[in-house]
Amino acid sequence: MQNVGRDIMDWSERLAKYSEPEWADKHQLTCTYLTPAHIQTAEEIKALMHEAGFDDVSMDAVGNIIGIYRADTTLTSTGSSTAAVKTLLTGSHYDTVRNGGKYDGRLGILIPIACVAELVRQGRRLPFDFEVVGFSEEEGQRFRATFLASGALTGDFDPAWLDQQDADGVTMRQAMHAAGLPGDMSQIAQLKRDPARYLGFVEAHIEQGPILCEGELPLGVVTSINAGVRVTCKITGLAAHAGTTPMRMRQDALLAAAEISLMAESRALQDDGSVATVGQMQVPGGSINVIPGECVFTLDMRAPFDDQRDALVQDILDQAQIIAARRQVRFEFNEVMRAAAAPSDPTLQARWEHAVQSVGQIVFKLNSGAGHDAMKLHTIMPQAMLFVRGGNRGISHNPLEIISEADARLAARAFLALLDDLQTHPLA
Ligand SMILES: [Zn+2]
Repeated sequence: MQNVGRDIMDWSERLAKYSEPEWADKHQLTCTYLTPAHIQTAEEIKALMHEAGFDDVSMDAVGNIIGIYRADTTLTSTGSSTAAVKTLLTGSHYDTVRNGGKYDGRLGILIPIACVAELVRQGRRLPFDFEVVGFSEEEGQRFRATFLASGALTGDFDPAWLDQQDADGVTMRQAMHAAGLPGDMSQIAQLKRDPARYLGFVEAHIEQGPILCEGELPLGVVTSINAGVRVTCKITGLAAHAGTTPMRMRQDALLAAAEISLMAESRALQDDGSVATVGQMQVPGGSINVIPGECVFTLDMRAPFDDQRDALVQDILDQAQIIAARRQVRFEFNEVMRAAAAPSDPTLQARWEHAVQSVGQIVFKLNSGAGHDAMKLHTIMPQAMLFVRGGNRGISHNPLEIISEADARLAARAFLALLDDLQTHPLA
């Protein structure tokens, strides 16, 4: 696998050539669901899979690219009965956020493609089918239908999404037709995978955080994908004259929101792995000389386990009520998102640990603060993820996102070690 790091870096550049026009003009990468740049990226992934030597390469009804490297059935414990051959599923997404990075998602498609290229070079096949998916959508940018691509594989594609419109009034169904896809629910429903046919799902992904970079660790094994809750909040106080109202007689909505934000910070700090973020805050109709009568803000709260997340959310919302009562303002909230934690399957996680060790690296375990396609597959089959270090302190969703050729090579070697291990020690 001498040139595998270089290959992955070159392939990333090949995919990054396709960006939506207004962004491409600024040398920025934006590739959102079913735009011409997105379809060109899909075609390039198909070409890469063909070049690597996959047996079957196709696009499915939601734009996922599916590459299959068939098993050598004489290697399976049950002999040549094709009915008994299971499949190892892997992959990640090829869409991007606006002005995003070249490796978020794509790395998890290119690494297994590099593994298949290597297996073909060695003239080897595995005792299981190896299915690599380039997921068409994960970021929820063009439509509010995050994870629609992996959701199609788990039977979670919401039929109402087909009628959802993008910012230009184009429905998802129209976008699908324009891309040559059927845009038809009966065909999308057929994409649901039967878990009985699968060994599980593994995903390689750039970390998108600073932990591996700061720790000078090229690889990390994911123990769990964080559970999350998002709420929108509103504080109602009393707008009043900023000059004439004494400090002790105010019902300042913004100060209550500020105190709640600081309280959320200190509550999250009490836990191992909890995070709480106020990402948006506005004073609607505010003025320089008026005490804020209303303040709206968001709270995003995440933790590695559901019960830890529930305690975090409960404490923050209870404390917010206490702060509001003391400040004589009203606090209201509305839950807009709730996602369960996705702890890694212990067996598959142990296989990643073994793979990382076998390429001479320390086994470092961490949880994932970001959501990933593996979270969706988790609902129907065992899953575990491998993280690859990002440079620039792990920055992601940003053009500064970077990986090194050496880390790309290590990650591909670790992935191949995982495949070797699954061959020599089949999952029970
Ligand atoms: Zn991603």
